[in-house]
Amino acid sequence: MVFQNKQALVIGGSIAGLLAAKVLTKYFEKVIIVERDHFPKQPEDRQGVPQAPHVHVLLKRGQQILEELFPGIDAELASLDAPSMDWGVACPWLGFSGWAPRFNSGLITRNYSRNLLEWTIRRRLATNNRVVFMEAGQVTSLLSNFDQTSVTGVRVRFRNQPETDIFADLVVDASGRNSQSPQFLERMGYLSPQQTVIKPFLGYASRWFQKPIDLKTDWRCVYVTVQPPNNSRGGAIYQIENNRWILVLIGMGRDYPPTNEVGFIEFARSLRSPILYETIKDAQPISPIYAYQRTENRLRHYDKLARLPEGFVILGDAVCAFNPVYGQGMTTAALGALTLDKCLSQKLYSNPDRNIIGLPQYFQKQLSKVIAVPWLMTTGEDLRWHTTEGKRPNFKTQLMQRYLEQVLLLQSESADIHKTFLEVMHMVKPPSEFFQPNIIGLMLKRLINHYKRSSAKPSNDFATEQKV
Ligand SMILES: Cc1cc2nc3c(=O)[nH]c(=O)nc-3n(C[C@H](O)[C@H](O)[C@H](O)COP(=O)(O)OP(=O)(O)OC[C@H]3O[C@@H](n4cnc5c(N)ncnc54)[C@H](O)[C@@H]3O)c2cc1C
Repeated sequence: MVFQNKQALVIGGSIAGLLAAKVLTKYFEKVIIVERDHFPKQPEDRQGVPQAPHVHVLLKRGQQILEELFPGIDAELASLDAPSMDWGVACPWLGFSGWAPRFNSGLITRNYSRNLLEWTIRRRLATNNRVVFMEAGQVTSLLSNFDQTSVTGVRVRFRNQPETDIFADLVVDASGRNSQSPQFLERMGYLSPQQTVIKPFLGYASRWFQKPIDLKTDWRCVYVTVQPPNNSRGGAIYQIENNRWILVLIGMGRDYPPTNEVGFIEFARSLRSPILYETIKDAQPISPIYAYQRTENRLRHYDKLARLPEGFVILGDAVCAFNPVYGQGMTTAALGALTLDKCLSQKLYSNPDRNIIGLPQYFQKQLSKVIAVPWLMTTGEDLRWHTTEGKRPNFKTQLMQRYLEQVLLLQSESADIHKTFLEVMHMVKPPSEFFQPNIIGLMLKRLINHYKRSSAKPSNDFATEQKV
């Protein structure tokens, strides 16, 4: 059902904004996307997305949603030379306790740069005649009705022009980590949401390389994980479109990878495996070294606010920005767009006169349920490090962490466990999969063997068990 003569407006034309806009075209006659940047004509960097040069993995669940929203987009990305990859066989994975087994997992995703992904989605959306892009316009405040109970649009500052008011029946904030919604709401007389912040002090340094034409590899990504609690260094090499690699180095707990040539290479050499260093040491760099350090997990609890104005919802990084190392941001943004779709449809069919009154609080509550699992997984991992700042986990979460630690120690011994791990990581299965009887059985067997060995030669230290 489409509202005749009604329009929606999205603040921010990045992944969350574009996917939300696509959903809104089902319900509104016109959908306006207001973006602070000029969109580049080609898949290129832009100021508003400084994270774009770093590896951006769209998880399997995210790719499924993308295909639902834009049928055929995977084939389009393939035609733009983005390679596909089976995570079991084509992504050697150095986990907590050694290299995971390699096997055909059937978990296949496509690898591309963040810029190519965003550009392709934007190009698709631009063919929809309900969508209007307004570029180089910064939203500076919300507009509201006389008693401030409803948002009625936004005030926008276009470059070199006086501020302009744009009216809309629904405003969606998808303006990312630095969203001004808390301040916008305060100015309207509402409370700003409480925030939970967990800071792992993780740093990224990335560089792009041309893969040598004659080089044959049996992988499309190699991942060397960090090892809590002591080995703070990790990295990955990730093949994207046009035969290019992105090498990303990561350091936890302020062990930031350097951005000078020598320091960058030395950091790569210092990892648990020499494979990343060996792969790129003679390869042709085609970019500068990019750094990124704003990686704190930040959750804004809009779902807990007693009052929200009608006609206004918030999603994407504007609600929940993750430490990006687990690759959940874009998939959670996609899940947020699906949630908006469901909530709009439910409101329309349950409200007697087919309006969307009550949408904001209902949507933020539903969204918070979607965010809960990736939030717990990410922050649970980050809080294993004593260097991470933030509220420590409760007893139940600590037990879960210990359990997961034992499961991950088996990742190198069992293809089944690595497969379950990958499926949970890609959000196609819930974390409860780790409690399958076969996994519990393997874990108990391992613990019993470990106990037998340690009663002969005492050693209960997690770190001493690792086979590297
Ligand atoms: C280093 C790094 C690596 C990452 N790797 C991954 C990964 O592997 N996988 C993954 O899924 N996610 C990853 N992410 C997260 C991912 O980038 C975000 O989750 C994703 O971009 C969704 O964000 P968003 O659309 O909500 O916000 P953003 O991408 O931050 O975009 C916000 C948009 O709003 C615009 N804007 C801001 N303010 C205004 C305003 N007032 N008016 C108009 N426009 C405005 C900005 O210009 C921008 O275009 C990574 C993030 C970082 C930092």
